[in-house]
Amino acid sequence: MQVIPTKSPTQFEREQFRRNSAFPELWQCLDQVKDPEIPALSLWDIGILKDIKRQGDQASVTITPTYSGCPAMDAIAEDITIAFKALGIEKTVIITELSPAWTTDWMTDKGRNQLRDYGIAPPNDVIGDHEQPLNSDSQVLCPQCGSADTKLLSEYGSTACKALFQCNSCYEPFDLFKHI
Ligand SMILES: [Zn+2]
Repeated sequence: MQVIPTKSPTQFEREQFRRNSAFPELWQCLDQVKDPEIPALSLWDIGILKDIKRQGDQASVTITPTYSGCPAMDAIAEDITIAFKALGIEKTVIITELSPAWTTDWMTDKGRNQLRDYGIAPPNDVIGDHEQPLNSDSQVLCPQCGSADTKLLSEYGSTACKALFQCNSCYEPFDLFKHI
């Protein structure tokens, strides 16, 4: 079975916004800052990095956390500040933008692949319309073996944003990152 990568318009807009930025080196710098919740993914790839601005030795970074009051925000702010210090930026202000709310549509294709490699099925690996609520007939491509013969074990996995599935081919249980 072949998975054809689809690029949602929001993803396309994000990439274009980044390309048009006057500070490409800052975006590149933050590619090394990972999401503390899923350390395989960068802030950019999980889709929470919205904007970066610089004025001399000061910068501001706009972040839309995956959930409001996300406890990882302090760690993220610290990692960004440290990464920017290496570029001569003394002061970094983190702006938290809650609206529009983060959606899994902002995850990059690279992020989806990394999630799969990490053993978590990305939202778009649900067979059929991945934006529909899950039910007992829902099937997801197994991130371990790629089989579509899977079953929903629990609507909630290791965290509320994930659902627990089991593969009927390799018998491995795995989390699905639900569409938000
Ligand atoms: Zn499997």
